[in-house]
Amino acid sequence: MKFSLKILLWTIIVMALALGFSGFYFVNYVFETSLEREVGQAMDESSILGFAFETAALSVPAKYSVLPDNTVEEIAANLERGGQSSGRLLRISDEGKTVLYASDGFEMDDALLQQTDENNKTYRIITAGDKYYVHTGTTVNAMNRILYLENMRDVSEVFTERAMGFSLYRKVTLIMLLAGIIIMHFISSLLTKPVRILTEATKRMASGDYAYRAKKVSQDELGALTQDFNSMAGALEQNIEKLEEEIEAKEEFMGAFAHELKTPLTAIIGYADMLRSHKMDEEKSIMSANYIYTEGKRLEAMSLRLLDIIVAGKEEAQLQKVSAESVFGYLKGMFAGGRDMTFHFTYEQGEVFAEINLIKTVLVNLIDNACKASENGGQIEVSGQAVDKGYRFAVRDYGIGIPEAELHKITKAFYMVDKSRARSKNGAGLGLALCVEILKIHHSELEIESEAGKGSCFSFVLPQIAQESQQMEADNV
Ligand code: ADP
Repeated sequence: MKFSLKILLWTIIVMALALGFSGFYFVNYVFETSLEREVGQAMDESSILGFAFETAALSVPAKYSVLPDNTVEEIAANLERGGQSSGRLLRISDEGKTVLYASDGFEMDDALLQQTDENNKTYRIITAGDKYYVHTGTTVNAMNRILYLENMRDVSEVFTERAMGFSLYRKVTLIMLLAGIIIMHFISSLLTKPVRILTEATKRMASGDYAYRAKKVSQDELGALTQDFNSMAGALEQNIEKLEEEIEAKEEFMGAFAHELKTPLTAIIGYADMLRSHKMDEEKSIMSANYIYTEGKRLEAMSLRLLDIIVAGKEEAQLQKVSAESVFGYLKGMFAGGRDMTFHFTYEQGEVFAEINLIKTVLVNLIDNACKASENGGQIEVSGQAVDKGYRFAVRDYGIGIPEAELHKITKAFYMVDKSRARSKNGAGLGLALCVEILKIHHSELEIESEAGKGSCFSFVLPQIAQESQQMEADNV
């Protein structure tokens, strides 16, 4: 069942019960009050009739010492006539409770009469046909006689009014319920609108429309829920985008990997086949074996690099205090003099928190790339400088540079701007990808500035976190 229908149904049930009970209570209260008033009036009338009877008995001639039965009847008939307009009905009985006079239509049992005595005025409410009466009983003392006077007062009107009250109330309740259903239908559909909107949004998202957002239509808890839903949808969309990008990157990686494997393998297989199927002179055999060896070595280097990237992506860096001096000392020892380049190492004193071997790997890769990009005898500047957020390492060359359109691609695995040039220099497009992974676990990233034909500058900053930790460590000492 729909939520709005449930609200509607429950409201109608509660309304019906409330109206029913309040109506019943109200009509009944009016009825009870009117009946009480009628009973009071009937009791008063009974007393007045008794008094009137006793007064009338006073005028009986003195020759009677006891009120004769026929005089009783006469007085009773007179009293009845006196109340003819109001339909008065009365009955007089003697000491033995034998009826002496009864109005026409006074056909009651003597149950009330039996309960009535000198000390006990009585009444009861009875029905006769379709009429209701208050039946009263009282004693009358007249000329040495004790008589019983019963009176019947018609109170049918009170009962009729109650029936009319109930009927009117039923109609009013029905009309109010109908009006309530219509009003509550609108209210419940208005209240549940955010739920409907959220349901629609959920369906849209389930069908793959992750950009869809639910419209916020209220400021209450449901509005807050809509807002939370949208935030959740945003986070989900971002995660899915990230996952899709990762999948795409993985696919690209696999494609490039397969491609990179193919070239050396084709060469290896070709030369190996030549060696085993043809008899070649020694020079050619050595040349073939040489190709196999070089390509095999290239494959080995590539697989080691790949392994490094995978390991770097999964590892947590074991950070230690590293001085700029030790890093530059190592680089100088490694590059100065060994190649046909002019290196300039300039650095400020400073300490960073890093895993020294990994940072050395990054710098060696960057310097290696700078060498590959430069002509023999080119200038390569390696610098270290304390900056606002930490310590910046930079490697600058004045070589071939990188076209702007290629800049964002070169850190992808296996990507080489000029494949044949890169291969001729033993490149496989994995060096920068490894650098990025290593910097990632140091919470840093590679910044590249380059202009085709003019040269490039690759730099990275080991971030503030290293300094804070350093400070913490210093505090702990
Ligand atoms: P590799 O050097 O093994 O080819 P890298 O991932 O280190 O792989 O570099 C990817 C590509 O980026 C290189 O093939 C080259 O085209 C380009 N590149 C990297 N460094 C430089 C540089 N300093 N100057 C010009 N091009 C560069």
